[in-house]
Amino acid sequence: MGSNSRRNLVGMDRRELEQLAAERGQPAYRGRQIYTAIYARGARSFDELTDLPGSFREALAQHYIIAYPEIKGRIASRDGSLRYLLSLEDGARVETVYMPEDNRATLCLSSQAGCAVDCRFCFTALLGLERNLTPGEMAGQALAVIADQHPKSRLNVVLMGMGEPLLNLKAVMKAVRLLADPRGMGISLRRITVSTAGIVPKIAEFGREAVRPKLAISLNASTEEQRTALMPINRKYSLQQLLKACRAYPLRPRERLTFEYVMMEGINDSDDDAARVADLLCGIRAKVNLIPYNGGPALPYRPPSLDRVLAFQKVLSDKEIPAFIRISRGQDIMAACGQLRLASSAEPNRQTLPTTPQQCVATPECQ
Ligand code: SAH
Repeated sequence: MGSNSRRNLVGMDRRELEQLAAERGQPAYRGRQIYTAIYARGARSFDELTDLPGSFREALAQHYIIAYPEIKGRIASRDGSLRYLLSLEDGARVETVYMPEDNRATLCLSSQAGCAVDCRFCFTALLGLERNLTPGEMAGQALAVIADQHPKSRLNVVLMGMGEPLLNLKAVMKAVRLLADPRGMGISLRRITVSTAGIVPKIAEFGREAVRPKLAISLNASTEEQRTALMPINRKYSLQQLLKACRAYPLRPRERLTFEYVMMEGINDSDDDAARVADLLCGIRAKVNLIPYNGGPALPYRPPSLDRVLAFQKVLSDKEIPAFIRISRGQDIMAACGQLRLASSAEPNRQTLPTTPQQCVATPECQ
């Protein structure tokens, strides 16, 4: 039987695997054994499930597979970060970035192939939306990179790759539950961050989740006009509505909302912008991550000078808003959102492809 007609177990949760075992006349705990093997031990073939009876293993192998997204490309940066191009079952391609540091590593996962949000400065936007990823494809990105890297240090996960996670919320939440389950992949919820361009009604929905990771908001502007110019989604969900949703967001004790602010020279990087950002965030338990823009000739934006970034940060700090400068990772490997995937795609949905390798950034959400 070809792999196409066999169902992939990656993406199934404990309950589904218990059911699957029951359907095959096995006790529920056999399902839990499969779950542990896949998510906690990283088993990739049924031969590795040695705690199951041989006959059950054979039956499983006939009907199911344990398959990760396929690694099509791996580009290493001088700074140690690694950008993966992964191919999914239907041939859709997504990017995942692995960023090792001294005592931890950060994985940046994609939630969609392409993206529909259309931020003017973003390379993924140039692809348009291809489709939502399934929970198995999101958890599978992490499993594939973990199997490739065997990280020894603490893992952080950010959903800041391709796509808008809150427009694929149900699947993202299931993936998060798989990533965070201590009996499975065991990545602490406090170390998982979902980042949104500001899908206002979904922020409230996200806030009601029982198993909830941290939330980051891509602010990127200090006025309605500026934000609409950079992020047309602001016409649908204005800055005012977004901040209202942030004020109503049920933060846990000691939790903060992270606001990402991609700095673009001459666009949104003045001291006045910084002062307005501070005013906007007044009364919200917030921290700001300043991300100097990384791009290239395909898009007309440039990063500000370091002095400008530092001055912006100082205005925020003076107004008691904690602000951190996110060091660009993967500068030499086209690591900005969507760049690698864009360069590998034959037919982008809009605009022209960059012809030369781009400057790039991967922006892990850090403590
Ligand atoms: N759609 C989600 C998550 C993916 S984008 C969101 O908008 O948050 C993750 C972060 O990367 C966002 O803060 C976005 O503003 C930023 N980003 C996108 N392109 C970038 C670029 N070329 N340089 C720097 N940051 C970029």
